[in-house]
Amino acid sequence: MIRGAALLAEGVAALRAAQLDGAATDARILLAHALGIPRDRLTLALQDDMPAKVQARFHKAIAARAAHQPVAQIVGRRAFYGREFIVTPDVLDPRPDTETLIEAALEQPFTRFLDLGTGSGAIALTLLAERPDAQGVAVDLSQAALDVAARNAKALGCAARATVQCSDWFSAVQGRFDLIVSNPPYIGTPELEGLAPDVRVYEPRMALVPDHDDGTGLAAYRLICAQAAAYLAPNGWLMVEIGHKQGNAVQELFRAAGLADIALRYDLSGHPRVVMGRAAV
Ligand code: GLN
Repeated sequence: MIRGAALLAEGVAALRAAQLDGAATDARILLAHALGIPRDRLTLALQDDMPAKVQARFHKAIAARAAHQPVAQIVGRRAFYGREFIVTPDVLDPRPDTETLIEAALEQPFTRFLDLGTGSGAIALTLLAERPDAQGVAVDLSQAALDVAARNAKALGCAARATVQCSDWFSAVQGRFDLIVSNPPYIGTPELEGLAPDVRVYEPRMALVPDHDDGTGLAAYRLICAQAAAYLAPNGWLMVEIGHKQGNAVQELFRAAGLADIALRYDLSGHPRVVMGRAAV
């Protein structure tokens, strides 16, 4: 028999050997996962003998992480803005940076909103959970992602106010919205090569690099900006997450689209992370 503490130490060593940052934290999350307990109960469990089944689950999880699979994909969950979301290899792992977009949106009044490229639904469902009067349309081109978003909508009790729908950006969208949000793919193809294998190998490429990328990663913004005016209600806001070097280019696209009150929002690292602008009445 092996105690929890010894098994954990083994996992940490294996992750360190694979040169992963955050080995200690990751190993704890993966052991709690193998035990099927919440992370805050792990310390107590470290004194216990680990059943063979738990050991096997833990070793499998450690091997996946050592091969750079993201922790969220291994455990199938990720916390975003204080709520748990189901995550699979079909969706982008919700990131803390994207909470900047949530904060910007929640400063505004809105009832009807649209989320373009919803993925796990993290943005749309957080907005619905935070605004009990809101109604959201969440679209994605990936049916596999929409399945994840629908499961998350149900788990968070928001399904009745969420329309989860397949659409190539605006193609299947109807009506006008007080708010349009998006975290579109914005990595330029050359930049993709420089990303950690955790992202480059394991996350869906269609969530990272826009279709018809010209190397800048801006293609999705061009498309969204060109059509947004037809889908925004008077005074409605368009808010998009951006890569930290894309602030000027995306603001220029917002200006060209005739949007007003264009502004940037910064993430916790101080990088420009959101561009927002509103439809002139
Ligand atoms: N922020 C993500 C990353 O750098 C990219 C997400 C996106 O393209 N929307 O990995």
